[in-house]
Amino acid sequence: MDGDLKAGQLVAAIDVGGTSIKTALVAEDLRVVHTHRTATRRVAGSVDVDQIAELIEELRSAAGTATVCGVGVAAPGIIDERQGVARAAVNLGWRELPLRALLSEAAGMPVALGHDVRTGGLAEFTVGAATGVRNAMFMPIGTGIAAAVLVDDHRLDADGYAGEIGHIVVDPQGTVCGCGTRGCLETVASAMHIARRYAEITGRPVIRAADVADAVRAGDPDAVAVWGRAVEGLAAALTTACTLFAPEIVAIGGGLAESGDTLLAPLREALVGRLTFQRVPKLVPASLGDNAGCIGSAIMAWQAVSGRAEGPA
Ligand SMILES: [Zn+2]
Repeated sequence: MDGDLKAGQLVAAIDVGGTSIKTALVAEDLRVVHTHRTATRRVAGSVDVDQIAELIEELRSAAGTATVCGVGVAAPGIIDERQGVARAAVNLGWRELPLRALLSEAAGMPVALGHDVRTGGLAEFTVGAATGVRNAMFMPIGTGIAAAVLVDDHRLDADGYAGEIGHIVVDPQGTVCGCGTRGCLETVASAMHIARRYAEITGRPVIRAADVADAVRAGDPDAVAVWGRAVEGLAAALTTACTLFAPEIVAIGGGLAESGDTLLAPLREALVGRLTFQRVPKLVPASLGDNAGCIGSAIMAWQAVSGRAEGPA
């Protein structure tokens, strides 16, 4: 590792979240040689772009004698990767923010901007759990739910609007989602919803969906009911995705995937039970954990450095 740090080049990878920002230095073979996490700084409610520029400088120092030659940044929301603009990142307080231009001017090197989930998907499709196929999905289930979709070896982006599987309606009579629609997948299957719903039913305060997963394994009928509803919602949304995109592999990530087969085994069964003519995907846990965003950002940064733009031929 030291040898690589003395010679050679690295890229800075930055995964911006509403509460923390993860940074990494990544070599061209995608080895992560340095990581750091820091609290997100806000100015008047919006995540401070100057902080990201400062983090790039810190990574330059951390690189020692190695050269940082490019930057990849991942962020949540509606992120227009082609234009390098954060169209609407509600959690970060950004709207129509030309982040790529701002950061490349501040850092004086090529910057790539990506959506956090699609960037994580790029990593899972390249070096993670969904490699070796031309059609795949990566679906992290956490506070929210979104998907990265690979079709014929091309990641769907649609100017930042693609992949919002968490807002497929799975229960038209259900509760109103943060987006304003009733019964979105997120209202039955996000980690936050699962914990909240179980607490409502039982009066027992639980903070994490992982606690509900523990209760499912212990045979708690209330937990089994809440979990079962989430699994059915996920299976319904994935059935739609399989019908439209025919993935060969679906990699499930995010906090909920940490419950392992408590989630994946019944989800596999529910999905297979719904599919008729569609290609049946392999349902697997994602393998890169919360490094996926940084590794994907690094892939984009290396593409920006070499002038290779990912996209349709
Ligand atoms: Zn919604």
